[in-house]
Amino acid sequence: MKLVLLPGDGIGREISSATRLVLEAAACRAGIPLEIRELPIGHDSLARYGTTVSDEVVQEVRASDGLILGPTATMDFRDPARGELNPSMFFRKQFDLFANIRPSRTFEGIASRAGQFDLVIVRENTEGFYADRNMELGSGEMLVTSDVAISIRRITRQACERIAKAAFELAETRRRRVTFVHKANVLKISDGLFLEVCREVASGYPHIETNDYLIDAMAAHVVRDPSRFDVIVTTNMYGDILSDLTAELSGSLGLGSSLNVGSNFAMAQAAHGSAPDIAGQDIANPASLILSAAQLLAWFGRRQSSQLHIDAGQAISSALEELLRQGAWTRDVGGKLGTAAAADALCSAIRVNR
Ligand code: ATP
Ligand code: MG
Repeated sequence: MKLVLLPGDGIGREISSATRLVLEAAACRAGIPLEIRELPIGHDSLARYGTTVSDEVVQEVRASDGLILGPTATMDFRDPARGELNPSMFFRKQFDLFANIRPSRTFEGIASRAGQFDLVIVRENTEGFYADRNMELGSGEMLVTSDVAISIRRITRQACERIAKAAFELAETRRRRVTFVHKANVLKISDGLFLEVCREVASGYPHIETNDYLIDAMAAHVVRDPSRFDVIVTTNMYGDILSDLTAELSGSLGLGSSLNVGSNFAMAQAAHGSAPDIAGQDIANPASLILSAAQLLAWFGRRQSSQLHIDAGQAISSALEELLRQGAWTRDVGGKLGTAAAADALCSAIRVNR
């Protein structure tokens, strides 16, 4: 398996090198050939090549079986003409990675803030406020006068349909419950379309239970009792916000993993950002990116019908679960280990586990 690893900014470097070591340990243990090509992205790449995403990176990613993208600080990236592309959006668009699969669950040994739960947020990844890809307006945002700004949000039947199907397919493999999250009482046309399409798709899965909530009510429900939810499907921005909430409820934002999936390619990415406040201090929790990489292994395994890859992904999450149970992890989840020491502990656990 050939992977590209793009470390990113802030805590990106630390959690990427942890992820690399863990992947190598798991591949070695499973007897899977693994080649990881590491290249600069974001600020690093901008300083060296004058663009946040170089042509070399794009070529390498195209030739790979999957991408692991570390978090990049995107606040200062404003002008695509000056090479300041948002790498995350760039790859989501290039490879049409329309489904952002964000699991959130509690672990034994880690204090959850809302009881035990195990859910997955399926976030639409290609439209909404973030990414009006095909719009003449460019980014979908514009300054009308220096004091007035407009953001336009596009929702299409096709995008709703494929994200809803992804959610139902996932629910088939889980507890068979899908919750649609929207704000169709106010955004009657756009979220109305999303809800309508979700209901249409649901009719093809009569054995799957469904319900729907307004995003505001959902924020309360998920804090009150997240165990009621199995698969949650929602539009881009609600999914982004809701997944930070559920990750933190499970113990820490540092546990939030995600896989961006399209029809032919997948990209592992921590659900959180570059956390500049804790960068370079060896305290970041690398579990987010490690679990995302494990999701990538499982995805590749299913695609290639390779049980070895599926097992390797499982070996990583089982070994991590065990360390979390023992409290042998990072500070944000009550442990004492630094980022590098946590990665070492996980590599050792993977090597000895049967
Ligand atoms: P960005 O603009 O890149 O999203 P941000 O300032 O929003 O950066 P986030 O990465 O979204 O920061 O994180 C929010 C907070 O959660 C940070 O202040 C950080 O302390 C904490 N945090 C995020 N990721 C981790 C992690 N992996 N381990 C520990 N704490 C984390
Ligand atoms: Mg953030």
